[in-house]
Amino acid sequence: MNNKTFPLSVEQLREVVSTYGTPFYLYDERAIRENARAIKRAFSILPGFFEHFAVKALPNPFILKILKDEGFGADCSSLPELLLAKEAGIRGEEIMFTSNDTPAHEFKEAKHLGAIINLDDITHIDFLEAAAGIPEIISCRYNPGPLKGGNAIIGKPEEAKYGFTREQLFEGYKGLKEKGAKRFALHTMVASNELNIEYHIETARILFEFAVDLYQKLRIRLEFVNLGGGAGIPYRLDQNPIDYEALARGIRAAYDAIIVPAGLDPLGIHLEWGRIITGPYGWLVSTAIHQKYIYRNYIGLDASMADLMRPGMYGAYHHIAVAGKEHAPATETYDVVGSLCENNDKFAVQRNLPKIDMGDLVIIHDAGAHGRAMGFNYNGKLRAGELLLRTDGSIVPIRRRETVEDYFATLDFSALSRFSPAEPAKRS
Ligand SMILES: *Cc1c(COP(=O)(O)O)cnc(C)c1O
Repeated sequence: MNNKTFPLSVEQLREVVSTYGTPFYLYDERAIRENARAIKRAFSILPGFFEHFAVKALPNPFILKILKDEGFGADCSSLPELLLAKEAGIRGEEIMFTSNDTPAHEFKEAKHLGAIINLDDITHIDFLEAAAGIPEIISCRYNPGPLKGGNAIIGKPEEAKYGFTREQLFEGYKGLKEKGAKRFALHTMVASNELNIEYHIETARILFEFAVDLYQKLRIRLEFVNLGGGAGIPYRLDQNPIDYEALARGIRAAYDAIIVPAGLDPLGIHLEWGRIITGPYGWLVSTAIHQKYIYRNYIGLDASMADLMRPGMYGAYHHIAVAGKEHAPATETYDVVGSLCENNDKFAVQRNLPKIDMGDLVIIHDAGAHGRAMGFNYNGKLRAGELLLRTDGSIVPIRRRETVEDYFATLDFSALSRFSPAEPAKRS
């Protein structure tokens, strides 16, 4: 069981809405900081612990700056994400560049920033060398294939496009060393939204065993292993959050069993968690603007799937509350929908909720990661802005709502006015 809470009273929320309108995302700085501290505390039993926050989960530089203040770095996978991390003051090896199918100019910028480049494939060694040169520190991404069972969202590692095979890793590290790399790391990411801590502990065990093998076969000693992201959050009321202490203890036990006897202590433990860092501490707040009663009962919000794609894309569950009616009996059954011309634009399907009146504020929970970040502009939808509830109770806008001008920013209407729709004469 977990409690779904919201950090503002109905009166406070109405006040915020009167200033900013709806829809908007709201993030709770205090809760994000407390969560970051709980993670650091739990993992302090492991040597060289470091969290590179996966920027893709919540790519807002204000949030990154808060996380940097808590001692976290960033995990980036594109040039704009690298630039966001840089703007937030995250520097050098605090940045992990875990990309795939990477263009040359992005490798170049990552190297220029001093980020730890995490190669996705053995052919990327030569590609990186040609693009930017081989850096002193380098990481390789491991795809354990059949060694690791599948996870519901990310699927079986064997079918995933990421990473080196086990055999390729040995060859890869050897080649990297020959090309001048001096410091080595190993990464994997084989989970998404996984709540079972045993799954994450097993991942650590697989990396630890590889670290020992690599040392024994090639005398290459890893500086750290990165367990990737994929720590789950309890979207549903009957799920339990990950117990950080139990997870850290489980990883520590595997470390003591595998790394210590091999003489490889200390080996750093890094994470690239995204969702679990901010997911539960963000909400999408919208207003009910329509109700319709046909074969089913519908509530139409002023937010859409363009603001929060997960329910429409994955059928993902997000808890929904109606401000001021949190304790009202769920007497109605609704499909809660957005305005996209796509029938999967539904935040909830056949959900039992209290009676919703027009103008009610509808709060969608657990939207602090992979929420605004996955938004899009299909159907000309303009994405919601983002507000930060600071620890002193003040509200700070950290991204404004999109405007029609933003939507048109890549178009040149003056060229359009000069453009003749008559077909140009054919060249002979
Ligand atoms: C998505 C991703 C993450 C973060 O995943 P979460 O599920 O948000 O923790 C970390 N690393 C890589 C390489 C990713 O693709």
